Amino acid sequence: MEDDQGGEGDKVKVVVTAGPTREFIDPVRFLSNPSTGKMGFAVAAEAARRGFDVVLVAGPVSLKTPVGVNRIDVVSAREMLKAVKGAVAGSDPCVFVSTAAVADFRPGKCAAQKLKKGSMDGVLRLVRNPDILKTVGLARKKAREKFPILVGFAAETGDAVAEAVRKCRAKHLDMVVANDVTEKGAGFGTNTNKVVFVFPDGSSRRLPLMSKRRVAKKILDEATRLTTAAR
Ligand code: C5P
Repeated sequence: MEDDQGGEGDKVKVVVTAGPTREFIDPVRFLSNPSTGKMGFAVAAEAARRGFDVVLVAGPVSLKTPVGVNRIDVVSAREMLKAVKGAVAGSDPCVFVSTAAVADFRPGKCAAQKLKKGSMDGVLRLVRNPDILKTVGLARKKAREKFPILVGFAAETGDAVAEAVRKCRAKHLDMVVANDVTEKGAGFGTNTNKVVFVFPDGSSRRLPLMSKRRVAKKILDEATRLTTAAR
């Protein structure tokens, strides 16, 4: 049998975040984005097919759970952070693939009752959400650990590579999957993606347009390589 698990020893755990988060203003209104979760679900499905121990932390999406995947549903960024921390804790070797389009901001407070139009003055005070990936990256750096291997995403609308290198270093990641979301066939809701793998040393590898499932395979090939190197 093909050894997809990155070498001998313990089974590799793969934690994947997918989809958007919702940040509620009141019980019937929220801030969010158009992420469908397709990329993250493809990574989770492919990781399960390879025999990894997969935890998929999913924001609100309408996709079926892939076979062999443990799914944790969350709504907000703070819930996602809590689920990710729990999933990566004490798991060696572990890979964290962060595909989720986490809302960067949330309303300063969520009203308990539906806000009346008349009571709103058109100004919404926002506060920063935690950066889930950076939190895990900083914790790993502080603990001087090699795991989890950290793979981030960078959806850009310009020079995706330069921005991805900056992100890779700032969040202490092993790799960033960058894409220009304005390119045809790439980004939100599509079944295909056109990405560049970017590494902290500034090197990069450009892939042609391909299905998200195929991108998922390539990501897991790289993650397996990084896992083997870190062991
Ligand atoms: O900085 P930016 O949002 O572009 O970074 C994108 C990467 O960081 C993605 O991998 C995304 O899942 C992750 N992220 C996160 N928590 C946030 C914002 C982004 O984990 N609050």
